Amino acid sequence: MNDNFGFNHFDSSVPGADGQNLNTPYQDFNSTSITDEMVISAVQKACGFFGIPEVPVVNAQGTCVWSNDPSTYDDDVLGFNRQELMSMGISGEDSLALVYTHECAHRTLQNIYADDWEEELACDFFAGVHAGMRGINMANFEAATGDTSGSVSHPSGALRADFIEYGREIAKEMMDRGMEVTYEGCIARLNEHLHDKDELITEYRAHVLSDETEGMERHPNKGVKGYKVCATSHGCSGATDCDAAYGAYHR
Ligand SMILES: [Zn+2]
Repeated sequence: MNDNFGFNHFDSSVPGADGQNLNTPYQDFNSTSITDEMVISAVQKACGFFGIPEVPVVNAQGTCVWSNDPSTYDDDVLGFNRQELMSMGISGEDSLALVYTHECAHRTLQNIYADDWEEELACDFFAGVHAGMRGINMANFEAATGDTSGSVSHPSGALRADFIEYGREIAKEMMDRGMEVTYEGCIARLNEHLHDKDELITEYRAHVLSDETEGMERHPNKGVKGYKVCATSHGCSGATDCDAAYGAYHR
């Protein structure tokens, strides 16, 4: 089995990671429960899992990713917000590694899913796959994620926990059967699960969206391939300052 995630259709075209930029940006904070070293190590594990280059981590309003030019991984930027993570209850190397597995999954998934919730659930699923393959303890990550209430951009915590758990099961199942765990194989199983959970997702979405999108207009270009801004026309200027929808993938 490959040491990375069998993400072979991109491996040959991207340069190796050097991690140079990871040392500088977030030294103005000090905390014992999430140290800079832990963040660097988490980002390395997450990038290594997908076999994609390590990219800079900057202080941001939330923990997020900017994928920028969708044709390359090299210009991606990861956001880090210690206070946000701590307030979610994230602590320890294992859960940080899964947080950044989620963010790096966004990098690999660019525009596969036009639906915000499906993309978020896909990222949670890959966190579960990573945990299952490498024996990463996911209790803290799952509890923190499962405890969130849904929004326009993010599904309800119960759904997120379900997809994390499913990812772990799939990875274990494939390994138990001696199968190679590939990106494509995981996407196929993920799509089955999205199909199976369709009604439940619709139900949760109806609850959440009826409150959150009150008075908001849907953006006419939402879902168009390559068009990556906020899903609504509520007045933000898109990826860098959106507070309601997708663009900056908070959490
Ligand atoms: Zn996300």
